Amino acid sequence: MAVKPGYYPDGVTKYTDPFYKCVCRNCLHKFWSVTVDIVCSKCGSMDVFYDFDDGKADKELERLNQSKSEFIRENQSKSEFIRENQSKSE
Ligand SMILES: [Zn+2]
Repeated sequence: MAVKPGYYPDGVTKYTDPFYKCVCRNCLHKFWSVTVDIVCSKCGSMDVFYDFDDGKADKELERLNQSKSEFIRENQSKSEFIRENQSKSE
């Protein structure tokens, strides 16, 4: 496969392009990448959000943080509910 002149080996990213701002959807690690074949440098996940726009990456990070904390809250209230029911049956 010939590499286009002025492009990185991924064939998508130009040398003149800015870095991608990346947010790992698995561990919420934020990092920069030069090319689009992005793997999280922290957990190795390939489920990574990326955009040239740092503001969009921040928004995605915020969104992921929110959905993660909602998930935790939901689980906490569930375990409280279970505890309550257990103490009632005793
Ligand atoms: Zn990760």
